[in-house]
Amino acid sequence: MHIIHIATECSPIAKAGGLGDVVYGLSKALVKLGHTVEIILPKYNHLTHAGLKNLHISHRNLTCPYGSSTIQNTVWSAEMHQLPIHLIESEHPDAPFSRGTIYGCVDDTARFAYFSKVAVEYLIQSNKTANIIHVHDWPTALVPLLLKQTVLNIHNLEHQGLSSPTELSRLHIATPGSEVNFLKMGIEHADQVVTVSPQYKEEILTPLGGCSLHTTLLQNQHKLHGILNGIDEDYWNPQTDPYLLSNYSASDPLPSILLAKKDNRRHLCRYLNLQETGAPLVIAITRLASQKSPPLIIHALKRTLELGGQFILLGSHPDPAYAQLLQDTQKACHNNLNAAFLLGHDEALAHLLFAAADAIIIPSLFEPCGLTQMIGMRYGTIPIARLTGGLTNTVFDADTSKKPNGFTFEYPDEAGVNWALDRALQCIGSNATQRQKLLLNGMKHDWSWKERAPQYVQVYQTIAQTPCEDALDSHRYTQILNTEYRSH
Ligand code: ADP
Repeated sequence: MHIIHIATECSPIAKAGGLGDVVYGLSKALVKLGHTVEIILPKYNHLTHAGLKNLHISHRNLTCPYGSSTIQNTVWSAEMHQLPIHLIESEHPDAPFSRGTIYGCVDDTARFAYFSKVAVEYLIQSNKTANIIHVHDWPTALVPLLLKQTVLNIHNLEHQGLSSPTELSRLHIATPGSEVNFLKMGIEHADQVVTVSPQYKEEILTPLGGCSLHTTLLQNQHKLHGILNGIDEDYWNPQTDPYLLSNYSASDPLPSILLAKKDNRRHLCRYLNLQETGAPLVIAITRLASQKSPPLIIHALKRTLELGGQFILLGSHPDPAYAQLLQDTQKACHNNLNAAFLLGHDEALAHLLFAAADAIIIPSLFEPCGLTQMIGMRYGTIPIARLTGGLTNTVFDADTSKKPNGFTFEYPDEAGVNWALDRALQCIGSNATQRQKLLLNGMKHDWSWKERAPQYVQVYQTIAQTPCEDALDSHRYTQILNTEYRSH
């Protein structure tokens, strides 16, 4: 099959969170299964170019309608680990892809509506054919309005992309109603909708978890699937990870694993000016959005220190609502030999933290899948997680599960965190047998895409029965254009 992803992130060249990891990891896994995969991304001005091979201009004079005029675009193509990547550079007067950030601009809906439209224009003007067009979250959820044979991935239902029909009519996309919800329209128009864990699929069908789209999702339940994310087994591999001082793997004897983790921790502590102790080290690697519950992460930091442990928080995209709390915490961590709070996205440091830590805390209010618990486990770092979404499908409690790999709690409050964190610290500090069991269960489990990518293929097969059928539905496309032209 030939699959084309249209996305706003792809690790490691453009990543804000798990979406980027999924586009990259799933694509690689599909290639391993013998499929052809291409990825279309904006050519952001802050792309990490390392890893891109043979970057060259592959399409000039790509036009995109804009009001009564047209905008010129250029497509750059490259290869990343055998994946063809197409990067769209635009002459749009608002420079939508040159903001130094992927998300967080006031005109995000306009930026990504434009990207979606120009990506579709690229497919059409370059006569590209494919069996499946796979789009991700609200930024590219308009594509199913324009093309057939589409799969929409919901990585996070909270963000939906709200805009006005005027914004879209400028791009010659006609929409009914007075307000446009990109994700809702994507759900309605996509041929299949996949969300990123079986548990999250159940949650989003309820008023509590459905972020006001549960009715739309219930109406489209027949095409909704919950497939757990995997992690890329090469990118997240403690045996070969170039960011580690000491490499190790699940097949090493336990003492060697523990020794390698200790080496990495010593290296980390020196780098961050922390005291070199054998006390339990807990980490959090996260966006600091309300979904991730920054107050509970800070509570976990304080409690870990009270109980004699060390804590390192690597947090990006701080929600302004927590500015004061985060500032106070940063001040408190300054010159503290047992705690560090680093603000920003730091890929290299994240890898070293996963390897050096004993435990990782994820007290999310909701979590569609969550990757850090799986990455943590692959690196022998025990997850402490709230039971929600994909965390429920991946973290199994030390005291209640048959195949335990972590510590869980149900209610996202301080008492819940204490219940799981206290048990984790006790286990790491003074229960070597239990700790080894949890660590090895986590490390030996297959968290890769191996079993999950074939589930996507099954979904693709439901809409691409004929291998050479084109996803580019010029019929649907012209129909929308004609409607728009008629109304002029
Ligand atoms: P989400 O997609 O909601 O942000 P996930 O757990 O699904 O959360 O994926 C987060 C991904 O982003 C993981 O690969 C994690 O290591 C990475 N990540 C999150 N915050 C940071 C950060 N501050 N620095 C480096 N990597 C980060």
